[in-house]
Amino acid sequence: MYICVMIDQGTVEKIFDAADILDVVSGFVSLKKRGANYIGLCPFHNEKTGSFNVSPARGIYKCFGCGKGGNAVNFIMEHEQMSYADALRYLAARYNIPVEEQEMSEEQRRERGERESMLVVSAYAREFFVRQLYHTDEGRGIALEYLRQRGIAPVMIEKFGLGYCPEARDALTTEALGKGYKREFLVKTGLSIENERGLFDRFRARVIFPVQDIAGKVIAFGGRTMSSDKKLAKYVNSPESEIYHKSRTLYGIYFAKRSIVQQDRCILVEGYTDVISFHAKGIENVVASSGTSLTVEQIRLIRRLTPNVTIIYDGDAAGIKASLRGIDLVLEEGLNARVLLLPDGEDPDSFARGHSSLELSEFIAREETDFITFKTRLLLKDAGDDPIERARLITDIVRSIAKIPDAITRSVYVRETALQLEVEERVLYTEILKMRRVSAERVPAGGGGEHAGVTTVPVAVALSPCDLEERVLIRYLLLFGTLELYEEEASGEKGPRPVSVGEFIIRELAEDDLTLLNPVYNAIREEYHRQHVSSGFIPARHFIAYPDERVSVVVADILSEPYELSKLWNRLESYVESEQMKLAEFLPKVIDNYKMRRVEMLTREADGRILELQNGDDPAGVVDWIRKKQAIDKIRGKLSLRLGRTGVK
Ligand code: ATP
Ligand code: MN
Repeated sequence: MYICVMIDQGTVEKIFDAADILDVVSGFVSLKKRGANYIGLCPFHNEKTGSFNVSPARGIYKCFGCGKGGNAVNFIMEHEQMSYADALRYLAARYNIPVEEQEMSEEQRRERGERESMLVVSAYAREFFVRQLYHTDEGRGIALEYLRQRGIAPVMIEKFGLGYCPEARDALTTEALGKGYKREFLVKTGLSIENERGLFDRFRARVIFPVQDIAGKVIAFGGRTMSSDKKLAKYVNSPESEIYHKSRTLYGIYFAKRSIVQQDRCILVEGYTDVISFHAKGIENVVASSGTSLTVEQIRLIRRLTPNVTIIYDGDAAGIKASLRGIDLVLEEGLNARVLLLPDGEDPDSFARGHSSLELSEFIAREETDFITFKTRLLLKDAGDDPIERARLITDIVRSIAKIPDAITRSVYVRETALQLEVEERVLYTEILKMRRVSAERVPAGGGGEHAGVTTVPVAVALSPCDLEERVLIRYLLLFGTLELYEEEASGEKGPRPVSVGEFIIRELAEDDLTLLNPVYNAIREEYHRQHVSSGFIPARHFIAYPDERVSVVVADILSEPYELSKLWNRLESYVESEQMKLAEFLPKVIDNYKMRRVEMLTREADGRILELQNGDDPAGVVDWIRKKQAIDKIRGKLSLRLGRTGVK
């Protein structure tokens, strides 16, 4: 899911120009002047002495205590928990900057793009369902009573916006039409179903679970029947639509995202009630794939927040099967998989309700296992000492390992498996190679690149080992990109030509076909490449008001960095100045240093592959990689000379 802003860049820049950081922050934090800057108590964490700084000159804030920082829009996003677009609208309203959509009437707003209309009617429906739950006899008597009996706490009912759709044929449909919501969008969102006799409500006589996207917008509903009639489906869900793609949605992601980042782990459960019961026990980094089996897109959504996933499913046969499938998908996407099976007969919901917060978190910490241990235990139980069964078990585990994209990670798991199952590593490597070869033939190379045309930032991957080096390069682009670095002799009679810092960096990277590994940095590099020839291009300004929120947040963060480095707020300006003066001397070294890091990564990859291939008896493959490694070594030698080191270690 990409963040899409409906506001044009010109307006965005106007908003950034108007929204003075001091003014915006002062609305929420009381600030005291200190030198050129302002200081106050951080609104994002508990503190008694102020470590929250605002720099009016740079238009940014930064907290030394919790590390949060950004521009005025980021502040509103963080403080008000708004999406990027909503924060922009909020500031636009405050500074009287016209944004087209805000001048429309309620009526006109409904006519806006189809998606928007569907979101509007979904938000209305949520409100309708909540109203029915609390303020009708039917809702209170049947649904609220049911939720109470299920042990769902009132605060959780409120937090997750649970509601009730009455039994009458068309209670929602009729009220919605009466309020001017269009029949077209009621049908498109699936809230109403059309037949010969007209429109009726899809969720009749059901308790409603609204489904929100990562930004908090209601995009779908799940409805649980109140009837014990076995012929009725227990759960009914909104159909696929322009706003609801089941396979890309995780129930609870909006409420979980902060905690997932904080805990650096995402817990995956099956259903609505599992998520809610975990929240009730204070475990908030939890989402559900509810209604579908886990998909690759759902895992990529998680990957934006953390590389660590714990799957918690029921202990029954179906749960085990789902866990095994989940593990392989998670591994395939390069994430780390842990699993926790609940005692047979329990699901996460019942288990959470039956235990205290402490018991639950201790149980998770104690029982979650890495996937090898999980599979080994599980399958060993059936296999016993039967050699054929054991062989099957080994094949099964190896199949999972073979899916891991990184060779070094694979070798770690090979060692672990060899230990646990008492087999030789060599045997495992041979199998892995066979499987990787088969799947390499099946899967076409490339992939990714989902949205063509627009510069979107691909989903984040785990930080690469040279993330810091890439960050430094982006920092130079942003701070000094347009400065002249040196003059070069131009062909023809025009005389020497100035080369800017930005041009130098872009050119150096292009020369070796290097793209940056961090997708956000690389998006900045690409955009810079396109923009740097246009006149009036001011890198810092361009990127801080960039429509993709992930870019603008990272940029704001990078721009606030000298504070962190020096931590001497007042000496900041002179620090930047000296860095700038030494650019001509430093920059080529910084770039060579980065290239060296990339070469080292390639070497590591090659070593991993060679190890695997040697152990797996593939002489041709080994020769191939040894050649590649020789080429890499050559580049390394060249770089070493330039960096003033000897090529020999
Ligand atoms: P019961 O009270 O009988 O246990 P339940 O509401 O807990 O019923 P389960 O059958 O136990 O439902 O399913 C567990 C969870 O899986 C549900 O809470 C729900 O979130 C999810 N689920 C089950 N079936 C569906 C479905 N068809 N669509 C979406 N989610 C579903
Ligand atoms: Mn259940």
